[in-house]
Parts: sequence; structure tokens; C-alpha cells
Amino acid sequence: MIPVTKPFLPPKEQYIKFVDDIFARNWLTNNGPLVNKLESELRDYLQVNNLLYLTNGTVAIQLAIKVLDLQGEIITTPFSYVATTSSIAWEQCHPVFVDIDAATCNIDASRIEAAITDKTTAILATHCFGNACEIDQIQEVADRHGLRVIYDAAHCFATNYKGQSIFNYGDISTTSFHATKVFHTTEGGAVFCRDKALADRMGFMRNFGHDGPERFAEVGINAKNSEFHAAMGLAVFNHIEEILARRKSQSLYYLDKLKSPDIRFIEITEGCTFNYAYFPVIFSSEGKLLQCIEQLNRRRIFPRRYFYPSLSDLPYLEKQPTPICDDISSRVLCLPLYHTLAREVQDLVIEIIRETLSGE
Ligand SMILES: *Cc1c(COP(=O)(O)O)cnc(C)c1O
Repeated sequence: MIPVTKPFLPPKEQYIKFVDDIFARNWLTNNGPLVNKLESELRDYLQVNNLLYLTNGTVAIQLAIKVLDLQGEIITTPFSYVATTSSIAWEQCHPVFVDIDAATCNIDASRIEAAITDKTTAILATHCFGNACEIDQIQEVADRHGLRVIYDAAHCFATNYKGQSIFNYGDISTTSFHATKVFHTTEGGAVFCRDKALADRMGFMRNFGHDGPERFAEVGINAKNSEFHAAMGLAVFNHIEEILARRKSQSLYYLDKLKSPDIRFIEITEGCTFNYAYFPVIFSSEGKLLQCIEQLNRRRIFPRRYFYPSLSDLPYLEKQPTPICDDISSRVLCLPLYHTLAREVQDLVIEIIRETLSGE
């Protein structure tokens, strides 16, 4: 069976070495040495000032909305994983969808201004598939209207924008270290922000609001992560350069071999150094996409329709029209991409798609 993705596993002994240390210390969670080591290694690697390691990428978004005290309407993208929208609703805010740019699959920055009302407090955009949003344009609109900006950068480990980590943009960026992401800690996530005071507050908030053993700075939640998760993170992080290089070479191979009038690829935003997190293919019609899925499934290859359906179809929200997103999400497919994916399997995927599209 060939899935769309497989988690990267480091050599077991490298993980066990960290676990042995945890057993020796008997320190399992609560700001332990491995959590601190992971945070500091990631800060150095990504060149970010403030990074807080959390339980997952969904709580990261919720914490960002909470610390900024957002209310009312939050402008967001309909093309993302459900956690982007559900976090807005979970925090009692109202998601307002702005349609996407068909070329990049990210929120169309030029349409944001028209969606702003007197209830709008923020923009929450996803850098979809690891490709940067129109960051400068979004910030310019936000500044003009006094809005906060949060980026769901769950796909963006090691993506850069204009020469620095993409996590440095917006008031807060969030990411996920879930097992299926480019860099993972089994479950995990993080928030990033340039403002030290805001980072300090999120530091209290992730630990029940404690700012001392018997003191509470503000209302908090339990969003801290454990030594075991950090151990996996550190073991995976030792291989990050190979992980990124492999994904890039696999992606370039697909790009080269999959040229067809029935297929296009996402356009990487100017200024973005892409991390090759996913390999999305946009077919000329949903019919062609369904035919390719059927033929691939027959050979036990299981690509995924990321992201389908459009989030504007969520049953707990009133329908808002997003025709471009509805169209793209009906035609987009992510092909298998993971560290141990063999070239021969890529060749098979390519051959099946080419044959299906040529009607053979
Ligand atoms: C994976 C993902 C999340 C959620 O992250 P978890 O760590 O699984 O909670 C949020 N947004 C996007 C775009 C994602 O792909």
C-alpha cells in the first residue's frame, strides 16, 4: 500500500538514547531539559526570537486567537485543513471566507479589503502546502485597518520568505509538528512571534496561567508538551537536512515527468523559498481527477484530496460563496511524498497518471 505520506522515523537507537535519559532523570514533562533543548535548537535553526513548543498545531491557533483577545469576525481562507476554521469557531469568533487565488491556492490578498466590516478584528491566513501568502499585501491591508494577522504556517517548516523564516511574519505564526508534517515530534506544534511580551504571555497561558508555583498571571490552559515528544523531535531534527533534500528531489522529479495539458502545479509566490512539503496537482477537471484516483487505487496507491471539500461547506457554518475555492478543491490531488518513497514507485504513479490522461 502506498499512502500519500508516511511519518519519518529516525533510527530507533537515536530515539531510545533520549528516552534512556528521560528514565534516568525521571522528569517526564513540565518544561523539562529535552523540551528546552528542542526549543533552543529550533530557534537557532529557524533564526526566530520567540518560539513556544506546544501540544499540537490546533491549540497553537487557539492560543494565538486567545492571547490577541480577538472577537467578532476573522477573515480567513476556505482552502486549508479544517483546524484553521474550527479554531476560529472554537474561540467564539466568526470566520469570514475570502476566496483564494487559483494560481497559488492561498487567500487572494486583493479581495481581503472588500470583506472587512466594523466587526473585523483579524486576518488568519494559511500558507497552503508550504507556499507563502502575499505577506506584504496582507500586512499593508491589516495596518490600514488596524487588524491583527495570524498565519497558520502548519505546512511551513523551513520555508523562507524574503530571506528569513516565514514564521517571523504576522503578529503570530503557528505551526504543527504532527507526525505527517515535514518536521514532526509525533504530536506537537508551536507559536512564533516577534513581540517578547506577547510570547511571555503565551508562555504563561500554555501552563495554566502560572507565573510562579503559587501564582497565576492570567487565565490559561494546558498546552505544554512532554519530554517524550521532544525526544522524538530531537531525533528527527538530526535528519532535517536529508528530509528536506529528499522531498525536494522527489518533487522536482514529479514536476519534470508529469507535464500534461490536463495538469498544472501551484505557483510558488515571489520571495518564497519553498520547502516541498506537499506535491499538489491540479487537474483540468474533476472527472480527470476521479479517473486518476480510481486507477491509482487499483494499484493500491492512495493519494489524498487535500483540501476537499472547501471549508466554506462546513455544516456548522452558514454557506458563504467561494467559487474559486470550490472549483480548485474539486480538482486538486496530493501525490505520495515521503522520505522512503522509492523512485520506482514515483515512476509507477507517473505512468498511471499519464496513461489515464491519454485515455489508454
Ligand atoms: C496539520 C494542520 C493543522 C493542525 O495541526 P495539528 O498539530 O494536527 O493539530 C492546522 N492547520 C493546517 C493547515 C494543518 O495542515
